[in-house]
Amino acid sequence: PVLVGNLISEGHVNYVLMYNMLTGIRIAVSRTQAKMKRPLTDEDYSARHKYSFDIIGNELTPSARYDFKFKDYAPWVFRELREECFQLDPADYLLSLTAQYILSELGSPGKSGSFFYFSRDYRFIIKTIRHAEHKFLRSILKRYYAHVRENPHTLLSRFYGLHRVKLPHGRKIHFVIMNNLFPAHKDIHESYDLKGSTVGRLYPEERARENPRAVLKDLNWIDRHKELELGPEKRALLTEQLRRDAELLKELQVMDYSLLVGIHNMQRGNRDNVRRNTLRVFSPPDVHVPPTPHAHGYPHRRRATATTVEQPHVVRRAVHRNARANLKCVEEGLLPEEDTGDRQHFLFSKDEGGLRATDEQNEPLHTVYYLGVIDILTPYGIVKRIEHLWKGMSADRVRLTHSLSPPPSLSCRVHELISFSSSFTLGYI
Ligand code: ATP
Ligand code: CA
Ligand code: CA
Repeated sequence: PVLVGNLISEGHVNYVLMYNMLTGIRIAVSRTQAKMKRPLTDEDYSARHKYSFDIIGNELTPSARYDFKFKDYAPWVFRELREECFQLDPADYLLSLTAQYILSELGSPGKSGSFFYFSRDYRFIIKTIRHAEHKFLRSILKRYYAHVRENPHTLLSRFYGLHRVKLPHGRKIHFVIMNNLFPAHKDIHESYDLKGSTVGRLYPEERARENPRAVLKDLNWIDRHKELELGPEKRALLTEQLRRDAELLKELQVMDYSLLVGIHNMQRGNRDNVRRNTLRVFSPPDVHVPPTPHAHGYPHRRRATATTVEQPHVVRRAVHRNARANLKCVEEGLLPEEDTGDRQHFLFSKDEGGLRATDEQNEPLHTVYYLGVIDILTPYGIVKRIEHLWKGMSADRVRLTHSLSPPPSLSCRVHELISFSSSFTLGYI
């Protein structure tokens, strides 16, 4: 199968970073998990727990292969988010992420320079974020938590953890853990990253034909006359939820976020997988490698990091729906057949892990949508600063300045897009 991304194992340029991230997560999360649950307090939102890892180890941390420091932010809040809001089984979470020290690295699909890593079973994504995004998430955590509590079916990115690794030479890498919107066991036949803006929002159609897994943009959506086919029932539910989510983002002055739409055609099924004998898990990156050094400088950037990892002998078969079984499955080169439990609890991910299209009589059609609002950690102020940074060093100036129109217009457009979903031509007429 085509697993998009580089498997990171020993010897890889980012192996140490991965090792440190996973070791930190494993120790910090299990430590919180071992304690008795208690109601959240105000201090929990700003809390940070420090761990210091070294080869010898101490009473708090076991010995590790490398020296590094690890910070676990708001551990009680994220525990609450995982267990109470997002219905994750605590043991599953740790198993999926850390049972094996293998992640698959997607390099940097966006312009921001963030890196994406998938857990071995593709349920979770680790995204490295800028310090400013990190600070922003901390500053809105209480609001985010309250929103998720009030809106169990929210389409906003599900954040499961916020951490920092500090390397001995002082480099700090912040990262979040979130849900992969696209399930491992289904082909995504088309995907769109929609911002509700048309400026610079075209993925060249000829390249799209060459690369059917590319993530397309607003203008492709419009030109192809796409719409979300949803009957009155689902339409009303989705519209209302998007409205509420967008309202929060507006209040927090978040901009530059997207509605990510993955489309699975049930008639076409997973033939692409079978034919190519492949497991496709993620719409492949339209790898854009920005010019020379960027804000993170680390993880190490390799040119065109996205590669294809061939996994022979993929067989489809049902397996138990838990992390252990799924991991075993991946190991054997099999496809994890069904979704691990959490998706079924949520309105917009309970049909085949997504939202099934329906007709005007609310009868099911042969399409499943995978939907979510992503990239929600950039408030207006940060974008401005990034823009300046880029202006100084980027040959992409024109494209970038265009995509960063001032907040009123851009965020309005996104809000338009979202409210527009009520008519279900996610269009901009
Ligand atoms: P930029 O700021 O340039 O838009 P970024 O580095 O912040 O980029 P995102 O916008 O968060 O990156 O994501 C880039 C792409 O990665 C998305 O278009 C989407 O294809 C994929 N992606 C991001 N988050 C998820 C997710 N939770 N599930 C599935 N795919 C995702
Ligand atoms: Ca984005
Ligand atoms: Ca971003």
